Amino acid sequence: MNISNSPFKPLTKEVTFSNCDKEPIHIIGKIQNHGVLITCKIDTLEINRCSKNTSVLFDKTTKEILGASMNTILNQKILDEVILAFSNKNIFYKEYEIKNIDVTIIVHKSDREYVFEFELNTIKLDSLAYQMRLTEIVFEINSINDLQERCNRTAAMVKEYFAYDRVMIYKFDAEWNGAIISEAKEPHLESWLGLHYPSTDIPQQARQLFLKQGVRIICDVHTEPLDIINHSKTKSVLDMSNSELRYVAPVHIEYLKNMRVNATLTAAIIIDNKLWGLIACHHYSPKFINYYQRLNCKFLTQVFATKIQLDKSNKIIEKLNQSSFIHARLIDQINTSQNIIKGLTQLQYTINDLTESFGAAIYLDQKIISIGDCPTENQILAIILQIKDLDYPNEYIYHTHQASHDLDILSITEKAAGICCCFLSPSKEDALIWFKPEKIQTIHWAGNPHKEILPDHTKKLSPRKSFAKWIEQQTGKSVPWQDYEIAEVEKFKNNLTDIITEREIKELNHKLKIAYKELESFSYSVSHDLRAPIRGIDGFANILKEEYYDTLDDFGKSSLNTIIESVNKMNTLIDDILEYSRLGRKSIQHKSFSLKSAIEEVLPNLKELYPNVQVTIQEELPMIIGDQNIFLLLLKNLIENAMKYSSKSQNPQVQIRHLEKNTFYIKDNGIGFDMKHKERIFDVFNRLVNDDEYNGSGIGLAIVKRIIDRHQGEIWVESKIDKGSTFYFSLNNYEKQ
Ligand code: ADP
Repeated sequence: MNISNSPFKPLTKEVTFSNCDKEPIHIIGKIQNHGVLITCKIDTLEINRCSKNTSVLFDKTTKEILGASMNTILNQKILDEVILAFSNKNIFYKEYEIKNIDVTIIVHKSDREYVFEFELNTIKLDSLAYQMRLTEIVFEINSINDLQERCNRTAAMVKEYFAYDRVMIYKFDAEWNGAIISEAKEPHLESWLGLHYPSTDIPQQARQLFLKQGVRIICDVHTEPLDIINHSKTKSVLDMSNSELRYVAPVHIEYLKNMRVNATLTAAIIIDNKLWGLIACHHYSPKFINYYQRLNCKFLTQVFATKIQLDKSNKIIEKLNQSSFIHARLIDQINTSQNIIKGLTQLQYTINDLTESFGAAIYLDQKIISIGDCPTENQILAIILQIKDLDYPNEYIYHTHQASHDLDILSITEKAAGICCCFLSPSKEDALIWFKPEKIQTIHWAGNPHKEILPDHTKKLSPRKSFAKWIEQQTGKSVPWQDYEIAEVEKFKNNLTDIITEREIKELNHKLKIAYKELESFSYSVSHDLRAPIRGIDGFANILKEEYYDTLDDFGKSSLNTIIESVNKMNTLIDDILEYSRLGRKSIQHKSFSLKSAIEEVLPNLKELYPNVQVTIQEELPMIIGDQNIFLLLLKNLIENAMKYSSKSQNPQVQIRHLEKNTFYIKDNGIGFDMKHKERIFDVFNRLVNDDEYNGSGIGLAIVKRIIDRHQGEIWVESKIDKGSTFYFSLNNYEKQ
């Protein structure tokens, strides 16, 4: 049924067996008869609906009232008070007298209407004494630490305070079935303590309304409800969720009648914004309590709920502290034993201690190791594989307390009615799993829960008539997993994943180091072994040149020259490769040395090669700390590149300077290059020039980079085609001169 479009129709005709849970009680359009309801538009105060009993308080017919302004029936002063109150509140109430009748005016907003409810207040109270008693009750609720005792005392005090025949504390379970956990009653009444009620007795929409309104009364199930009449212009349906006078679902009235109850008071016990339970009061004759008393009841229930919440939080903190301790010990055990499986399953503490499980298992590297009371390894594997394919809200953690119902597994409920499975990675290859055994419970239902609401022969809903004790053995369920257990599992998973990742990285690093070393020694020995045959070729080619050059024709001569040139190139290449791989193996000797002297040591040879290049070195350069011999290689390569690649420029210049702190640079005005190559020129064999134009092996900058890395420094370059390049390097260790 589309609520917003449909005008209200009497519920008894609307509700069917299939939509019972969706019965729209909040738009019921009827009130109980202990008051009058009138609504008016918020902007114009024009009355758009009223209950048909307005004549009880006003000398006007409903016809005269509908469409009139609210101030024709209510003092303007009160209306001003209401408007003012709604500037910062969403409820207004006031004691008032109309036609010598004590009335409580209660006003709330519903959509664009003020809803005025005039409750006929037939109760006279000594408000001071009443208030003092409330203070005492609240004090007592707060001072009792044991939950059961607190419930018992609260039920007894509520019974005495509001004078109902029976007061029950009703607690919901995870499936919204309820149980009476405490009761105070008149002696002649049969006890309902311990009885369970199926979730359908208080359907979902009724629970929603409890959450919204908190406290509700039904004064007499035997009086007829009163219709609310709409003004002809009013087409919308009134949302009565917050109405005090709202009538209830006919099915509920019938239910109460079947129980022989006349009047009720129900207060919602709300914890963490969820309905925890109800304080449910029954009376076996009509009974009204006024708005002031209901506010007191609301307050009292809030105190009761807050105390339970506090206890719950304390318990959670205590449990979390305990499991944090186990958590820390388990991580210690893994670290000291250097073995995840051993650390989690074989030492003083095991993962089975982390939750309130009876057995636990770890599934790592396709192996299952279990501790405590667990299904067999094959069964555990089957469970994990099945959970792996399920769709559930938390990506990594799945839990159930009724595995045989939620999963398709063989009957292993005895040991694994409760399962909490936690995958350690998105690939779901490894997992931790905890088990709780079945806990068989004997439930005393108030009547057969399987016949809770039945369609009679007219297909109209009618609640069950018998509330005689109906005993059921509940099987296949374990004690449910608590929030703190799941929170701890989640925290533990995160830590364990970090350990596993760290371990994997270490292992990979180790393997990489070995592979790298092998590669280095391979390239070293290959280069080394190549030297001898090349020397042979070089020797024989030179003998040929010296002894037989004149006997060769032109082709023979040029071929011989090419052989000698290629051999030279090959020699340089092999020297460079050897140098490069030696650098990876060599240990570094850190010592302080003068950078300037080092530059002056390499410069003379280079000047011979590139005599036209002018090199300027900054006068004062700091001492640096590093391996001097290796550093000579760095300077040689960088300065040689600068001279080589500027040697064909006009007026070639190279400058070597110290920038700030530990940064140095070598700048030339040579050919430069495109900056898109600024990274790859430091890799081996990445040349940006042709061999014919500039000789070289393409290893020089790779050697430079390796030297800088081994000194924990950094190197970078700025360059522009045809404008020159500047190579910067910075070192961590240097000394001011
Ligand atoms: P190469 O033996 O070729 O000089 P390097 O590893 O020293 O090998 O340098 C790699 C490449 O980087 C060179 O081939 C060259 O293209 C470019 N390069 C290096 N230094 C400079 C520079 N000062 N000016 C221009 N290009 C340079």
